[in-house]
Amino acid sequence: MPFTANRQFKEAPRMFVSAKGMYYQTDDGRQILDATAGLWCVNAGHCRDEITAAVTRQIGSMDYAPSFQMGHPLAFEAARKVAALMPEGLDRIFFANSGSEAVDSALKIALAYHRARGEGQRTRFIGRERGYHGVGFGGISVGGILNNRKAFSGNLMPNVDHLPHTLNIAEAGFSDGQPAWGAHLADELERLVTLHDASTIAAVIVEPLAGSTGVLVPPVGYLERLRALCSKHGILLIFDEVITGFGRLGAATAAEYFKVTPDLITLAKGINNAAIPMGAVAVKREIHDTVVQATAVGGIELMHGYTYSAHPVAAAAAIAAIDLYQSERLFERARELSPLFGRAAHSVAGAPHVKDIRNLGLVAGIELEPRPQAPGARAFEVFRKCYEKGVMVRYTGDILAFSPPLIVQPEEIERMFSTVREVLQETP
Ligand code: PMP
Repeated sequence: MPFTANRQFKEAPRMFVSAKGMYYQTDDGRQILDATAGLWCVNAGHCRDEITAAVTRQIGSMDYAPSFQMGHPLAFEAARKVAALMPEGLDRIFFANSGSEAVDSALKIALAYHRARGEGQRTRFIGRERGYHGVGFGGISVGGILNNRKAFSGNLMPNVDHLPHTLNIAEAGFSDGQPAWGAHLADELERLVTLHDASTIAAVIVEPLAGSTGVLVPPVGYLERLRALCSKHGILLIFDEVITGFGRLGAATAAEYFKVTPDLITLAKGINNAAIPMGAVAVKREIHDTVVQATAVGGIELMHGYTYSAHPVAAAAAIAAIDLYQSERLFERARELSPLFGRAAHSVAGAPHVKDIRNLGLVAGIELEPRPQAPGARAFEVFRKCYEKGVMVRYTGDILAFSPPLIVQPEEIERMFSTVREVLQETP
């Protein structure tokens, strides 16, 4: 099983057999409140009839169409719908099947773009410590998680460097929303430019809000400074919005929320409410046009793609999911609920073992003091006890993460955090 303690799971398996709205049902008939939208992806709640109908219709009318040399209208319709939600100018879409593939695709597009404009020496990528960009070799190379890298460390991509992460509990602990401290950390890019020379750097890739390594909210002004430095040095800026895309922060993208426009955006998860695997990269039209125009007519412009790029069933699900997000105004709903969600998260502050709480939009992280000699053990125990009490939270190291579907009700928000408070009282 992926990212799972396999032997432990075998002893005490947790099995879901169905899901509806905010709840999973287990094999022993219990209802579990989904405080994490699956893996940050089921933004409209589970088994939405509109998406089920679209998927069912599509699989019955055309199950598959080759993605190389052939097209189908739903791919273009889905691309138009995704593009309409992106910041102005990022209106060219390339489809993949996961976040990891979206990241690898974005890195390749960045290289292809520089080569097409005669700057093929720009091959270096800059990621960030504690960044998570999936599990492809590209993604773990630009990612900054030691545990995901160390078994493969001899074979990571060369020419990658990392910015520091932005978490500092001493300076900005218990921040509600964006921390005031830390914008200066973006200036580390200037140091890397001095070290490597801008002419060797293709792109900087960051999650605008880092999710998987424990909800790291960008300091006020940080992303703006990163944007300014990238523009100054001709470096592309990639936002990995696999988590933040499609409403998580109360806007279609984090780029829109923070009013900082990157050059490429990677997407997945919420793109079709996780009904069928799908990922995507949105790129500025200029990047698309440069790559496309560098090749003679009739030649293949981007030597890259997947058998299932823009799979018709995934595309049908994306169209239905985006329609649903819009007809139910779910992104606005997330924004409206966010103050209540933040207050509920911070209500856990007085509970035992709590080291930090941070939140933005409908995302929160609660960092616990680790047990001596047993990192991660306390959060794992909290995760298991919450599950026993009917609430699924996520844990990563000693950090608990919360990211409910955007349809969550205020009482469900209260229940998520009161369960955690209760469990922390009972946990040594
Ligand atoms: N990028 C980010 C920011 C993610 O959060 C994730 C998944 N959690 C990925 C990439 C990888 O996505 P996938 O698991 O679909 O490959």
